[in-house]
Amino acid sequence: MRNLIHQLLDKLHRSGRLRTVAGLIGVLWALPLSLLGLVLALPIRILHGRIDRVSGSVPALLVRGPLADRLLQRHPFGPMAAMAIGHIVIARQQGLTAHTLRHELVHVLQAARWGPVFPFAYLAASAWALLHGRRAYWHNRFEIAARKAEKHFPPES
Ligand SMILES: [Zn+2]
Repeated sequence: MRNLIHQLLDKLHRSGRLRTVAGLIGVLWALPLSLLGLVLALPIRILHGRIDRVSGSVPALLVRGPLADRLLQRHPFGPMAAMAIGHIVIARQQGLTAHTLRHELVHVLQAARWGPVFPFAYLAASAWALLHGRRAYWHNRFEIAARKAEKHFPPES
């Protein structure tokens, strides 16, 4: 039986279906967050914005527009280039780099892994950093992981 499961998983892995199944589970698990992201995405799209599908290893929608620019400029943590809510990445119209997008896609993956508890885990990580005399945003473990991924991204051409 164990062998059969192993063979099945191996077959799925080789066909790439395991990744597809894992991606689908991640999308469903993070759906409450993505729906919240869509609530923000719709007015951005309606007010002269656009929504593009991000191609790559993680499914995500990239939302940009004048309203996104204003929201990111007035973000409670300070001006931001982009932010991810579930599988929705809201970004400025100008100056979105591949590194920034990679950073946000790590947050998309984190949301896919943590699902609806991700915002609480994120806040707990910030509280943990503060309790240890560190900066809530900069030393948040999820931000550290996203910054690490940025560095491993090939330089832009
Ligand atoms: Zn981040």
